[in-house]
Amino acid sequence: MATDSITEITVDSNFSLFDQIEKRDHEQVVICSDPKVGLRAIIAIHDTTLGPALGGTRMWPYKSEKDAIRDVLRLSRGMTYKAAVAGLNLGGGKAVIIGDPKTDKNEALFRAYGRFVEGLAGRYITAEDVGVTVRDMEYVRMETKYVTGISRALGGSGDPSSVTALGTYMGMKACANKVYGSDSLKGKKVAIQGAGAVSSHLAALLKKEGATIYICDIFPEKVNRVAYDVGADVVHPDQIFDLDVDVFSPCALGGILNSDTIPRLKCAIIAGCANNQLDDESKHGEMLLDRGILYAPDYVINAGGLINVANELEGYNREYAHEQATRIYDTILNILNLAEGEGIPTYEASNRLAERRLAQIGHIKQLYASNSTFSGRLGELNRSKS
Ligand code: NAD
Repeated sequence: MATDSITEITVDSNFSLFDQIEKRDHEQVVICSDPKVGLRAIIAIHDTTLGPALGGTRMWPYKSEKDAIRDVLRLSRGMTYKAAVAGLNLGGGKAVIIGDPKTDKNEALFRAYGRFVEGLAGRYITAEDVGVTVRDMEYVRMETKYVTGISRALGGSGDPSSVTALGTYMGMKACANKVYGSDSLKGKKVAIQGAGAVSSHLAALLKKEGATIYICDIFPEKVNRVAYDVGADVVHPDQIFDLDVDVFSPCALGGILNSDTIPRLKCAIIAGCANNQLDDESKHGEMLLDRGILYAPDYVINAGGLINVANELEGYNREYAHEQATRIYDTILNILNLAEGEGIPTYEASNRLAERRLAQIGHIKQLYASNSTFSGRLGELNRSKS
């Protein structure tokens, strides 16, 4: 193990990048470096069967190259599945910038990163993610047209959280339909973990329908504000798993459905917007099935954010983005029916749907289409905006 003096990053000589890439079937991983502006970034393109790879850029002070690579490979693969199930003609990609978002940001760093994205000529389209703001994306946008998630003032879609909340709400209603025979959430008790951007919109939608809401956050001022605005009961973050409710809605962090928390749950449904909710997908997906708790797969129910930025590629239309997010209801119901019919966990049913679409669309692309120059909807960025 050697330590690099510039960013204090640990290099592990036993770690094979090619092994990692091949293990998860990635197409391409691009290492971007510009020491003069402090840029160290990794762009991972997982699969472009459906279209250009779209996914956010995360800025995080990774302790080692291994951590950064693992994160970008895992996240980019997840984007392939998310886009496939959402019915988008987009592939899966993601990028990480190694650095502390509080201290290491500067204009030149983001513009240098933008030039690397531009160099991929549309195989990868970026957006913001953890640690990266709409303002940072404006610097990226100075150097590349392959960027989404920009502010509304610049013709972009702005903050996606209300669209994510709408999709989550519709997915929750689909679960209610399956469990209770009606998609009405009136009178249902919903426990929300996290009082953030998405859950504040979600809580408002639930309240409007007549649900009773319990909500928690690690920051009292945040939870008190949402609780006051929508009329919810505040609970302690440690108690959120123990409430006797109809729906548990994880809207904070990943990995919160695990061997410690699942036995504590007293809900019939889990439906929330957080990414990577299952700590161990197969183990904890099975555990929920055994406990008879209906789990709405996270990357399906929270696809509203991706749907929103994807709409920028063909000229943003908020109404259409909302309409597409509303269809998450049907997608979730389809997955729940498939899981029930096959007796498999819901996460497995959604993975199967994603893989089926990838195989089918991959197949039709083999058909000879004369000398067509049409590259498909949401794949026209190269020509239309050059
Ligand atoms: P946010 O940061 O605005 O909200 C998250 C909230 O969770 C914060 O208020 C935070 O204090 C709180 N929190 C953190 N740890 C907690 C804990 N242990 N207990 C209780 N509360 C805790 O984020 P957001 O944009 O609302 O996103 C929420 C989740 O949804 C994230 O996992 C995100 O990756 C995912 N997601 C968001 C979008 C989007 O459009 N914003 C899209 C898809 C997925």
